Amino acid sequence: MTVLDETKAILADLIAFPTVSTDSNLDLIAYAGERLSACGARLALTRDETGQKANLYASLGPETAGGVVLAAHTDVVPAGDDWTSDPFTLREAGGRLYGRGSCDMKGFLAAMLAMAPRYAALDLRHPVHLALTYDEEVGCFGARQLVADLAGHEMLPSMAIIGEPTMMRIIEGHKGSYEYTTRFSGLDGHGSDPDSGVNAITYAAKFISRLMEIGEDLKARAPAGSRFHPPWTTVQVGRIGGGTARNVIPRHCEIDWEIRPVQEADATFVKAALAAYCARDLLPRMRAVAADAGIETTVIGEVEALDARSDNPARDLVASLTGANSFDVVPFGTEAGLYQGLGLSVVVCGPGSIEQAHKPDEYLAVDQLEACLAMLSRLGRHLEA
Ligand SMILES: [Zn+2]
Repeated sequence: MTVLDETKAILADLIAFPTVSTDSNLDLIAYAGERLSACGARLALTRDETGQKANLYASLGPETAGGVVLAAHTDVVPAGDDWTSDPFTLREAGGRLYGRGSCDMKGFLAAMLAMAPRYAALDLRHPVHLALTYDEEVGCFGARQLVADLAGHEMLPSMAIIGEPTMMRIIEGHKGSYEYTTRFSGLDGHGSDPDSGVNAITYAAKFISRLMEIGEDLKARAPAGSRFHPPWTTVQVGRIGGGTARNVIPRHCEIDWEIRPVQEADATFVKAALAAYCARDLLPRMRAVAADAGIETTVIGEVEALDARSDNPARDLVASLTGANSFDVVPFGTEAGLYQGLGLSVVVCGPGSIEQAHKPDEYLAVDQLEACLAMLSRLGRHLEA
């Protein structure tokens, strides 16, 4: 069987596991674990606190520091019902492989698993590791746990390739993605006497206006030479909910909002400015009417940016493997920043297009998968003795 045929067969198996982030990924992890142990990989499996999700970290080659980790998340976004065919059955048509997760990112995962026995057959001078994580789509929780497990490990890899769909282009930086829900608790009352209550919607509106002002301040903080579009850190409110009726002072309001930092310091700046505004302005006014009024912010996820660095051996290695001679930055978040935080040099490069991710009839072009396999087999030769 050619490596491409084998990768397609593995991809069909992977897509048949409906690993939507809300559900368990244990069956997929067990499947991958079997394949990897069959070729002699050293496995480390860790579960989340529910026991229903797991990360798998597999190592091949010498038991030394250095080498490369190939990283893929195992979860997919929900499929919805606008599909032409069953989203959890791989369908090949017109040079495309259709299925939920085909490009984001089970195609790369299938290529990793197909390459593992081939790596195992080489006399590797540097190790290659395969990282399979849970819950990327809902906040990179699996990678966060994996990175915590690896921190302080003696035999850390020195480079990471995150195979998110980039059309095999080399991505050396992306913005962070920090998501929050802020809840305002006030005091209800009759709409005819607004001062007798604490209008949670009014205070949410003040909070939002302050956030928008901070958003303007962020434009002046854009780093010189920023390659992002837009070049500065952005803030956005995406959802608001609260209140019961026109003539009732609303007790509750909540907003979902986000920061997309180009630099970590901007997120700190936004959070500090909002905290100061709430403490000095909003909360005293709310509590003058109702002592138990409050504002509470929940962190939904804080996905670190991938900082584009001039010195990046992982980028240079992947460029030598693919022949690419230009590097980009993208606006979407990945697990890359977490691996960078561990001290690895990191690049995002994988098959398929983000255009097809998270959509009905998601597909991966076969020629993209072939390009990915070519890159991974050159990587094997690079790591050989
Ligand atoms: Zn993804």
